Amino acid sequence: MARQKLTAVRGVKDILPEEARRWSEAERVAREIFARYGYGEIRVPTFERTELFSRGIGDSTDIVTKEMYTFEDKGGDSITLRPEATASICRAYVQNSLYAQAGVAKLFCMGPMFRYERPQAGRYRQFHQIDAEALGTDDPALDAEVIFMLMEFLEAVGLAGLSLQLNNIGDAECRPVYAAALLEFLKKETAGMGADLAERIERNPLRFLDSKDPDHAEIISRAPTIDQYWNKRCRNHFDTLCRHLDRGGVRYERNPALVRGLDYYCLTVFEVTSEDLGAQNAVCGGGRYDGLVEELGGPPTPAIGFAIGMERLLQLTGKAGPGTGGESVEYPIEVFIVALGESAEAESLTLASELRGRGLRADRTFGGGSMKSQMKRADRSGARYVIVLGDDEIAGGVVALRDMAESQQEKIERAGIGDHLCARLRA
Ligand code: AMP
Repeated sequence: MARQKLTAVRGVKDILPEEARRWSEAERVAREIFARYGYGEIRVPTFERTELFSRGIGDSTDIVTKEMYTFEDKGGDSITLRPEATASICRAYVQNSLYAQAGVAKLFCMGPMFRYERPQAGRYRQFHQIDAEALGTDDPALDAEVIFMLMEFLEAVGLAGLSLQLNNIGDAECRPVYAAALLEFLKKETAGMGADLAERIERNPLRFLDSKDPDHAEIISRAPTIDQYWNKRCRNHFDTLCRHLDRGGVRYERNPALVRGLDYYCLTVFEVTSEDLGAQNAVCGGGRYDGLVEELGGPPTPAIGFAIGMERLLQLTGKAGPGTGGESVEYPIEVFIVALGESAEAESLTLASELRGRGLRADRTFGGGSMKSQMKRADRSGARYVIVLGDDEIAGGVVALRDMAESQQEKIERAGIGDHLCARLRA
């Protein structure tokens, strides 16, 4: 009886070579552009103490209350697979005293994140982010620079028709005043809509503005907005940022209802959305988190960052996305060896190693087969050159070299084949 096929768990997916090539290309573009802005790569662990996220992201957020992959390890510690990278990067910044270096610390990181969300198109339980963080100043010029870098990257990978949504969600002084006013308003407006909703509003009234429920849309449209409550500092920060963006030619939309789901944000928040993504329309989210480093035991360090969702980014770039050069693999095979007979097969192994040692991309048939079937495999490999080895060639100290593009075949000295191919392929 055939064994049952094992499949991956719900909400995760395999990235096969053709798609992985597009991923690498997007990552390469990110590395190149981020380097121009002075960012260095940081690789943080994929799991951390649970406390880092509950303290950092906030106990009342959806991520912490519902979506974390948390488990007890064999030593009894509570461990969580990282649901995002910012908290880890701040932890690393504090732990490694990166604040001791002068100036702004600019860091980026790429990798998988884990959230137990309901899987749907564009939403996975393991997904990947490109994350950039700049720590060390509350100057709105840094907010602008971070947004310039983000938009330059999105454009460089070929994304068009995006919308940059921008807001300022206030600071520790004016946000609580706004939250109280919003709570009062929502309590009145949502009376009779259920205890569950009432409890959620009580816990964090700002999150109501994120609601996708059509019944809530009309209430949200009449709700007080944060800009009416900004103190002088927040208004100045927002106005200055807008001026920088205008001067830099970056288009944005002011969206006073944009709050974002993580507690650590303050002042600037932004999101990049695309109509082509459907319900899960955000390709990137970011904002300021001036209190997080201190919350994690470091010195007061204002900071800002963003996270781009790789799956959504590549969904948008589609087949015409970064790195589509026509070939199906990143480094196509250049030479393919067809071997007929036992001694030719053994020689094929040696020859392939020799060619690879010369820096050529070589492959061969495995498991023998007729000339016809092996040539079919050679053809499918896409290699420009095919080497045919049979008893006659071995006896004569030669190989038959076929140029697939020219449909020509010639005999070449076995000893000189490496030089010959290098001259043709690497000239
Ligand atoms: P966030 O960390 O929630 O601000 O998300 C930043 C970006 O990561 C979003 O704009 C999405 O592009 C992406 N993202 C977040 N959650 C998921 C998920 N469950 N599946 C796929 N992408 C996600």
